[in-house]
Amino acid sequence: METFVNLAYIVAAILFVFGIKMLGRADTARKGNKLSSVGMLLAVVVTMFDHHIIRYELIIAGILIGAVIGLVAAKKVAMTGMPELVALFNGFGGLASLLVGWAEFARVEAINQAYLATKENVVGALTSGGDSFLATHYPEGIQLSAFTAAVIILTILIGGVTFTGSIYAWGKLSGKLGGAATVFGGQKAVNGLIALALVGAGVVFTISPMSSTASAVLIGVIVLSLVLGVMFVMPIGGGDMPVVISLLNSFSGLAASFAGFVIANNVLIVAGCLVGASGLILTVIMCKAMNRTLSNVLFSGFGATQQSSAGETEGELKPISAEDAYYILEAAKSVVFIPGYGMAVAQAQHAVKELGELLENNGAEVRFAIHPVAGRMPGHMNVLLAEADVEYEQLCEMDAVNPTMETVDVAVVIGANDVVNPAAAEDEGSPIYGMPIINAHHAKTCFCLKRGKGAGFSGLQNKLFLMPNTRMLYGDAKATITGLVTQFKES
Ligand code: NDP
Repeated sequence: METFVNLAYIVAAILFVFGIKMLGRADTARKGNKLSSVGMLLAVVVTMFDHHIIRYELIIAGILIGAVIGLVAAKKVAMTGMPELVALFNGFGGLASLLVGWAEFARVEAINQAYLATKENVVGALTSGGDSFLATHYPEGIQLSAFTAAVIILTILIGGVTFTGSIYAWGKLSGKLGGAATVFGGQKAVNGLIALALVGAGVVFTISPMSSTASAVLIGVIVLSLVLGVMFVMPIGGGDMPVVISLLNSFSGLAASFAGFVIANNVLIVAGCLVGASGLILTVIMCKAMNRTLSNVLFSGFGATQQSSAGETEGELKPISAEDAYYILEAAKSVVFIPGYGMAVAQAQHAVKELGELLENNGAEVRFAIHPVAGRMPGHMNVLLAEADVEYEQLCEMDAVNPTMETVDVAVVIGANDVVNPAAAEDEGSPIYGMPIINAHHAKTCFCLKRGKGAGFSGLQNKLFLMPNTRMLYGDAKATITGLVTQFKES
């Protein structure tokens, strides 16, 4: 049975790896998702054959309740709420790992207590000539090895940080706890003390995991790791939140992997490592996209600092009517659409695709410039545009499109703000200084589609809207684009 289970785990792991590979391209992503799901189903079903399982009814009840909650959450969530959902999922993954680590310790402790009680009986029986087997073979009770003790601590520590960190991140992203970074004097010292206490408690537990105080030490580690999760996310805010979500995703994988070591389950170790590694790779990619180091993202308190006076923008907003915008677009030979969060809110992707086709039929070269952190989740714009069947070849990455921006007749910024904010390139006092942007302001004309004077995710002002070559097209992005489509069709 064990060989069968491990062979099935290898097949599941292969399905995970190929599934993840297929997620790398928009046209194969759905298939990849399904392939990985089949791998996970196989892993779960095969694990049910494990002879250590003693209560099937609880597991089946858990699967049913979890499946219903997951299905409802996935059906109900708006695309723009995806990062919040991912944060919640990460958090519960971390909590599950924490509980696995804790349960393993509790299991061994319970066995020992039951055994020691038996031993006393046995010792009592010995005097009247009873069986001395238990007393001879397990005089000290069952021992947790230092390795198992260490992985229990790591599982609980990383799982705990992931749980509260993710719940806090969910609160920030959903606006329930305010999206900005919170910093206070002595914050780093407090965090350092918590980390030190955790290291100390971890070492004590690993050295003597079955001592009479081990249980109290473990509870201390649980509490401190839950506090550390909140403290970890507290000084992070604004545009850095995607990075922290991705890092917490990686943590949830690591916690699961350590939980796999705790209960000696191979597929959990492999799946945890895959999540941990891919989350870390995504974190590094996002940091690079924002031209920041990970330590700068985690410890700089982004968003808690005030925008410098140089960030105060001067000039006036120049609205333009859809009709006038049409005339300019109609004459354009090169058009670049720059989608952002507002396109997702307006669900304007289908209308944008239609406008793109009309422009192409009119002889213009049409491209879509995608910023790596546009929207509210990595790949957000790619997913929306793929849904609208925009040709993959028309999507241009920031580095490819920027050198050509000066030759572009019209840049159409659709509900994007932070990712086209020139302050990131020009204003050294701006909190987003250094983050690469799409240079919409280098185009000959720039149309900005937004509903009003709302700021971007980071809450910063945007000089782009006041520049001489910028015209504002106010209104919901879908309505505005549909208006332009109508102009094209009627002329
Ligand atoms: P922003 O959030 O900076 O700006 C969105 C703009 O869209 C606003 O200015 C808003 O202005 C406008 N808008 C909102 N609704 C509509 C609508 N219905 N029609 C037209 N316009 C609308 O978006 P960006 O994509 O430029 O930047 C993404 C930001 O989010 C970055 O700071 C990034 O770091 C952060 N982030 C990214 C994540 C990711 O993984 N991609 C995850 C979490 C955060 P108005 O209200 O006036 O309409």
